[in-house]
This record gives sequence, C-alpha cells and structure tokens, in this order.
Amino acid sequence: VLAAFEAITPLAQSFGQLGHSLAAGERLFSIIDTAPAVSDPEQPAPIPATRSLALTFEDVTFRYEEEGRQVTLANISFHVPAGGRVAIVGPSGAGKSTLLRLVMRFWDPQEGHILLAGQDIRSFALADLRSLMGVVTQDTYLFNDTIRGNLRLAAPSATEGQLWRVLELAQLDDFVRQLPAGLDTWVGEQGLKLSGGERQRLAIARALLKDAPLLLLDEVTANLDRLTEQALFEALDRLMQGRTTLLVTHRLLHMEQMDEILVVDGGRIVERGRHEQLLAQGGLYRRLWEVQNALLPVA
Ligand code: ATP
Repeated sequence: VLAAFEAITPLAQSFGQLGHSLAAGERLFSIIDTAPAVSDPEQPAPIPATRSLALTFEDVTFRYEEEGRQVTLANISFHVPAGGRVAIVGPSGAGKSTLLRLVMRFWDPQEGHILLAGQDIRSFALADLRSLMGVVTQDTYLFNDTIRGNLRLAAPSATEGQLWRVLELAQLDDFVRQLPAGLDTWVGEQGLKLSGGERQRLAIARALLKDAPLLLLDEVTANLDRLTEQALFEALDRLMQGRTTLLVTHRLLHMEQMDEILVVDGGRIVERGRHEQLLAQGGLYRRLWEVQNALLPVA
C-alpha cells in the first residue's frame, strides 16, 4: 500500500489523467475502497498557505486494530522543524514504516497527536493532506505507462522541459536519453524492466516534480550496490533541500546530515540525537553502526 500511495498521491488533480489507463484506475479505486480506517473531517481546515511545514509527533501511541495486539508505537514524540531532516533508524520490525504510515493517515493513532504546521493532521481533508507529501519508498510502483506518463502522475501539466529537469536532478537523464523511445518508453509490468536503482531514481524524479513541502522516504537505498546508493543519495540530497523530511532507513548512510536521529526499537524511541553524539553514546546506534561497517566493504 505504501508503494502504490506514492504514485496516486496527487489523487484529486490527476483523476482525469488516470482515466486513460484502466489498470491504473482499477488500482486507484481498490485503494480508495480499502482505506476506510480514517475519514475526512466534516469541515476540513484549509491547508497551510506556507511552504514551510514543521511536523510534530506529540506522545503518539498506536496499535494495529486486532484485539490483544501489542502496541506497535508507544509514546512517540519528536519535532521536525520546517525544512529540517529527521531520520528514523532501528532494527527490522521496530515500527519505522508504521510511523510514516501514520503521517500519511493510513491509520490514526489511538493516543496523541500528529501536527503539521501546528495543526492536527486529522483536521485536513485527506486529499489535501496528501497533496503536501512527496513519498519515495523502497518498492516504487510504476504504472503500465510510458516514463512520461509515470512522471506526469505527479504533475499532469508538467512541460517537457520540467520532465527533463527532474530527470537530470535525479541523475536519470542519460539513461532515458539512450532509450530508443526516450520519454515514450513503456515501463511497468508490461514494459521495460527497470533496475531497483532506476525505479528509485524515477520515484525521486516524480517527487521532485510534485514539489511537495513534506517528504517521506522509506528505505530508499535498500538492496542497492554502494555506487548506486551513493548516486541515489546525491539525488535525494537535492530533493531534501528546503523540504521537511522524515527518512526511514536501516542503512546508516550520510547520517551526519540529519538534524536528529531517532533510534526506534520495539516501538519506542530508545536513543535520540545527532550522529556523533549517538556514536559516542555507545548504545544501540553504535552497535548498528559497527555491524554495518563490519559487514560492508569500505567504499
Ligand atoms: P522493517 O525495517 O523490517 O521494514 P519496520 O521498523 O518498518 O520494519 P513496521 O513495518 O512498522 O516495522 O512494523 C512494526 C510492527 O507492526 C511489526 O511487528 C509488524 O509485523 C507489524 N505490522 C506492520 N504492518 C501491519 C499491519 N498492516 N497490520 C498488523 N500489523 C502490522
């Protein structure tokens, strides 16, 4: 669900555009049909006029619906200042992706509040809220459409020049230029198979095109070789400029650039601080760091 969300984010704007692609339309509706967990407020608040949006978690506790399930996230509080970068790291199953899904309102927390620009995210219409978000995930969903079509989902009226510009920023322009059909190359299940890194760069290009002030990144460099990972991080760095960013990862890469790192384990924040502080602290972060650097060859 997380992956498909990224492509359908500009829901309200691109309804018409999606009409030509039956497969895309079906997926779109199935997502709408299966997302009754949250509802729009009767009188939605207008979305903030400013592009600088701080994101705040205030004592958020969440458990997935099933009876008797243990708490997935407990008493989570943190603040990402407008334009700031916060990383969520920690072992598998810690609750990192769940935290991002709460920001997207796939579910609402049972306790606590998530605020955007100081307002509870439940006060906005869902489509408005999601229009403020650029999402890039590990498994990017591509529609059976051309590269152009897949990019335009994010911005239906984007010009040719804008498409090339974001491809360039995502370091994908050379790749697309050498394809015989260029931007008109079909991708997705029935088209050209793109590598993991290419798909992720396409997702980054799409997020750049969407130009959203809030950026949610989930394991975007997973399963990539280190050179591709490096190139991708440079593209990400451009994407993150001036945007409020929440980045989920278990790869501790470029963590010095984060304003704060939250180490989550078993649904709780067990350590928090900047990279150097956390290393010096000698706790879980330090251990994750050591394991990572021992297992991977030096670049
Ligand atoms: P990973 O690094 O492996 O992706 P994560 O830290 O992102 O892990 P989550 O995916 O947030 O962890 O999962 C946290 C816990 O919630 C896990 O125990 C997981 O099994 C459970 N969980 C995740 N999604 C659901 C769901 N839709 N319904 C019920 N439980 C879920």
